[in-house]
Amino acid sequence: MIVLGIESSCDETGVGLVSEGVLLGDALASSMDAHARFGGVVPEVAARAHLESMLPVLHEALGKASLGLGDVDAVAVTAGPGLSTAVQVGLASAKALAFALGKPLYGVHHLAGHAAVDVLEHGPLPSCCVALVVSGGHTSLLLLGDLGKDPIVHLGDTVDDAAGEAFDKVARVLGLGYPGGPVVDRVARDGDPHAIAFPRALSRPSDPAYGFSFSGVKTAVARWVEARVDAGGEVPVADVAASFQEAVADVLTRKALAACREHGVDTLLLVGGVAANSRVRALAEERCAAAGIELRVPPIRLCTDNGAMIAAVGDLLVRAGAPASGLDLGADPSAPLTGALLHGPWT
Ligand code: ATP
Ligand code: MG
Ligand code: FE
Repeated sequence: MIVLGIESSCDETGVGLVSEGVLLGDALASSMDAHARFGGVVPEVAARAHLESMLPVLHEALGKASLGLGDVDAVAVTAGPGLSTAVQVGLASAKALAFALGKPLYGVHHLAGHAAVDVLEHGPLPSCCVALVVSGGHTSLLLLGDLGKDPIVHLGDTVDDAAGEAFDKVARVLGLGYPGGPVVDRVARDGDPHAIAFPRALSRPSDPAYGFSFSGVKTAVARWVEARVDAGGEVPVADVAASFQEAVADVLTRKALAACREHGVDTLLLVGGVAANSRVRALAEERCAAAGIELRVPPIRLCTDNGAMIAAVGDLLVRAGAPASGLDLGADPSAPLTGALLHGPWT
């Protein structure tokens, strides 16, 4: 069974082909550059770019996999969460393909895709693991069973900004451009992570154990930089970036490990765009090794949005015998992941 996956929830148009947990080929186009001057993704610009890129990316992915459309047995697509108009382009493309090919359509939850993609690199997941999904729009701790069958248990979330969003905003404050994550990561290499003690929110015993908050640290960075500029001083950009990154990495990994311990789970899955961060990866490795927990992190290119991750979920659903979504499947920009819903429609 060959599953074609389509991703278009934000600024990446991705198509991937997966069969029995093996990635056969994938391709990606990004409209990131078109959004840079706005400092964030503009939904209408993203949607138009998806429309332009979808068929070329589809052809490229099929070419890389040495497959034709006739080889496709099922179509999986991100149905949410994401930017509504962007999701709709992928959804319309997937429906057209499923209809024309006479193959089943599977609506996929974008975050399930971020988690499932690791299967393509490291093989099947254990029967139970904790996933820290940390991306541009989400910071969630999940308890995963069999991804194709079991409900996903939502342990906690950010109460305000996602970690990736905080990286993007801090990069803007430091004048480093957009997207912020990769450049903050790069600049931080030359900085002292202990130069400035930025706040670790929701870290008191009375706070929700698995809740995150990144708006405070983002504001603290802005205030610190402002005060330095007002005093006529130079801003030590590398130290600020490293100290901010340390604060975020510390909270993320500490809470993820606490979740593993409390639930008696010995595998941590670190996924989403911020899992590409070198300090988050290093600290997670260090803390997991000390706690005897196996850490699984997808390769960087599969951490950010891509089509392979959606095909990976589709492949799990097909193999689990999950019911297909109808062709009336709608986009759900804020699809919840609480409960059993890997596939829509969400009602
Ligand atoms: P979501 O998955 O929540 O809908 P998204 O799809 O926009 O959001 P991803 O593509 O998973 O998010 O990740 C993009 C985010 O990851 C951006 O905020 C980006 O700054 C961040 N990011 C990418 N690389 C790094 C890095 N090396 N360090 C920190 N953050 C990073
Ligand atoms: Mg993106
Ligand atoms: Fe994403």
